Amino acid sequence: MRSAKIVATIGPASSGSERLRALFDAGVDVFRLNFSHGTHDEHRARFEEIRAVEAEVGRPIGILADLQGPKLRLGNFAGGKAELPAGCHFRLDLDTKPGDTSRAPLPHPEVFEALHPGTELLLDDGKVRLRVIDCGADFADTECLVGGTLSDHKGVNVPGAVLPISAMTEKDRADLSFALGQGADWVALSFVQRPEDVAEGRKLIGNAAGLMVKLEKPAAIRRLDEIIDLADALMVARGDLGVEMPPEDVPSVQKQIIHACRLAGKPVIVATQMLESMITAPTPTRAEASDVATAVYEGADAVMLSAETAVGQYPIEATAMMDRIARRVQEDPLYFSTLEAGRLAPEHTDRDAISAAACQVAATIGAAAIVSFTSSGATALRAARERPAAPILALTPNIATARRLALLWGAHCVHLADITSFAEMVQKAVRTAQREEIAGPGQRVVITAGVPFGTPGSTNILRIAWVER
Ligand code: PGA
Ligand code: MN
Repeated sequence: MRSAKIVATIGPASSGSERLRALFDAGVDVFRLNFSHGTHDEHRARFEEIRAVEAEVGRPIGILADLQGPKLRLGNFAGGKAELPAGCHFRLDLDTKPGDTSRAPLPHPEVFEALHPGTELLLDDGKVRLRVIDCGADFADTECLVGGTLSDHKGVNVPGAVLPISAMTEKDRADLSFALGQGADWVALSFVQRPEDVAEGRKLIGNAAGLMVKLEKPAAIRRLDEIIDLADALMVARGDLGVEMPPEDVPSVQKQIIHACRLAGKPVIVATQMLESMITAPTPTRAEASDVATAVYEGADAVMLSAETAVGQYPIEATAMMDRIARRVQEDPLYFSTLEAGRLAPEHTDRDAISAAACQVAATIGAAAIVSFTSSGATALRAARERPAAPILALTPNIATARRLALLWGAHCVHLADITSFAEMVQKAVRTAQREEIAGPGQRVVITAGVPFGTPGSTNILRIAWVER
């Protein structure tokens, strides 16, 4: 049982049932479909292939639909590109005429509204840097601080401004309704700037999927607690975050986000460039291995692979490597003792009281598992918040919950019919723990459930049960 989960991005290097099956076998818990790329037909094929793998292996698999969000991009250049020397003057405007070395189209009127003299613009992941000298409703005259080559559709970041744009474009809305129609378990919103952006996503998503917020804007970090409050899960999206803020700030922001998410009991993913060199090499650098380990030590629910599995040459090796690093951390006694030192006070609810007690009882008697009967998944989330040493066996009558919890730290989910009696509760808990090879004869499990059975939100039972010898 590996506590930290693995999210893998699907792309040309990982499509087709056979390759998806191999990725699952190598350790993937949640597959991410990146809606910045691909057609609906392509994504539909991936949904079908993943569900086919799920049926084959008999384990719930999570699917994360990652919406592109309002990623700002330049228009076209005459000849496809232009070379900008440092110190040159360069204009961005709404004119659709192809750009050259003196100007380029930036087809986002809202951006010009938010600019001021002195605002910095980062182009092509920060490779080229411009500073606004003068601006108006449809132009910005800038000075080039760091030069380089610009080409068609390169990305533009404006870290210093809160842009008057929603986190959901027309494309995102179309992609969202498509993804929900296909049964996505999680939907990720990109470039969220404010709590209102999350509320807007929630209106459309409701509870049809878990709502994940990608933290990749400094403005969102400034309102972190409010945003966490409105989200179901968070992603430390270090790719854009590392462009929008100095790279040296990212590690401590990562720690801060993980801590805040753990406090709130919301799953958190650490993403981007984790095993970047494995896009082209069969082994990672020592620094990358250390980066994955650090995220796991910090208590992240999941670590993510992007280009490594989407377009890399070694998708299976990268997944297997992540799996081995996470398992190795888990073998270190320091891992659980550090997590334990960071243990958080339960909230004053029945659910938290029972979950915290279950973790404590499990530790005291050395139980093989905490078995949590959960319909919405909330009880499993609260148990995982305690980061117990024993695995959490989450039993749910709701397949959507089982799939969603694939992301959750320490949770092993099994989809089974609802229980109706105490005897059935104990029998199902013990049998499932045994069948899933989590508990063996002579071991104990700690069970949490709610009476009356089948009533969501009623967690009020704590029970110790033996697996018969
Ligand atoms: P992206 O998001 O891969 O969609 O850009 C992740 C990140 O920015 O780190
Ligand atoms: Mn991003």
